[in-house]
Amino acid sequence: MNPIDMRSDTVTRPTKAMFEAMFRAELGDDTLGDEPTVQQLEARVAEITGKEAALFVPSGTMANLLAMRSQTQPGDAVIAHEGSHFYHYESGGYAAIAGCNPRFVSTPRGIFSPDDAARHIPWDDPHFSQPTLVWIENTMNRGGGAVWPLYKIEALRAFTRERGYRLHMDGARIWNAATALGVPVAKITEQVDSVSCCFSKGLGCPVGSALASDAETIARARRHRKMCGGSMRQSGLLAAAALHALDHHRERLADDHASAKRLAALINEVPGLSCDTSTIETNMAYFSIDPKLGSASEFCKALDAQGVRVLDENPTLIRAVCHLDVSREQVERAGTIIKSVAGSMA
Ligand SMILES: *Cc1c(COP(=O)(O)O)cnc(C)c1O
Repeated sequence: MNPIDMRSDTVTRPTKAMFEAMFRAELGDDTLGDEPTVQQLEARVAEITGKEAALFVPSGTMANLLAMRSQTQPGDAVIAHEGSHFYHYESGGYAAIAGCNPRFVSTPRGIFSPDDAARHIPWDDPHFSQPTLVWIENTMNRGGGAVWPLYKIEALRAFTRERGYRLHMDGARIWNAATALGVPVAKITEQVDSVSCCFSKGLGCPVGSALASDAETIARARRHRKMCGGSMRQSGLLAAAALHALDHHRERLADDHASAKRLAALINEVPGLSCDTSTIETNMAYFSIDPKLGSASEFCKALDAQGVRVLDENPTLIRAVCHLDVSREQVERAGTIIKSVAGSMA
C-alpha cells in the first residue's frame, strides 16, 4: 500500500489532467522572451494578486530571494519574524545574495503589529543598518499555518507607507490563507508591495513559484533571476501545470483544512499525544509527543514503518500537512495507525 505522506504539501504528484494540460501547452523560449504559456501564467498571477506584473521562477526560495534583492540594497535591515522561512530554510541566501541584515520580531505564531516592528527601528545613525523592508509570511509555516488577519496587514501597510519601507509577503501558501478567510487573493495582496507564491505546495504542481509586484520591481527581479540561473526555456511546460492548478486545485483546499482538523481530533484521542486544535487554521497540524513515549524522531520512524509519514520538528514536536494526495479516508486510516503505534510505544 502507498504510504500516507503528510510530511509536506510538496510531495504531491501531478494528476492525469495536469499532465494532459502540460502535454497540450504551447511552448517557446522564455529567456528569449517568447514563451506564450509562461506569459499567460505571469499575466494570470498578476491578475489574481492585483499587481502590475509577475515573474515565474523555479522555487519559492528564488521568489523570496528576488523579492529581497530587488527591493533593498546590501546592508539594509529587513524587519521580519524570527520564525521566517527565508531565515531558517533558504540556506542563508538573504545574506549571501541580498546582503541584508534581519531584525527579528518575536511574537506568538508569526503575526506582529506595527508596535512590534517599531521596536526594531534603530536610531538614524551610521552605526545602525536602516530598515527598508518589512517581511511577513502568510500562512506562517513555523506558526502552524497561521493566517494573517486582514486588519493586521492593513496596519503594517499604513506603518510601512508612512516610513517609506516596502512590505513583502512570503505567500508560499497564500492560497490557503485566502481559502481560510473566504476572500479573493487580491483582497490580501492589495496591502503589500510584493508577494511570492508557490504552485508546488497545496496546488499540487511538480515545480514552480511566482513573484508579483509593480512592473519596475519585476523588471529588476527578472534580471536577478537570470543572474541566479533561474531563467528557463520551454518552461511553459511547467507554467501549464500551474495554470491548470489555479483553475482546478484552489477550491478543494478547504478539504485539506477540514482534514487537518479531523487529524488533530484523532490525535487528541491518543494518550501521550496532544494537538491544540484551536491553532489549526489551514492544512497543518502540529502535535506534541510526551517524552515517555519516546522522541518525536523515534515516533516518526515507527510511523513510517507502518506507512504514515510525518516530520519531526524538534524532539517533542511533529508536523503533519494535508494536501490533495491525502484523502479523507487516508486521514482516518492514519489516525488508526498513529493510535496503534503510540500504543506500542507506551
Ligand atoms: C516552502 C516555502 C518556501 C520556499 O519554497 P521552495 O519552493 O521550497 O523553495 C518559502 N516560504 C514558505 C513559507 C514556504 O513554506
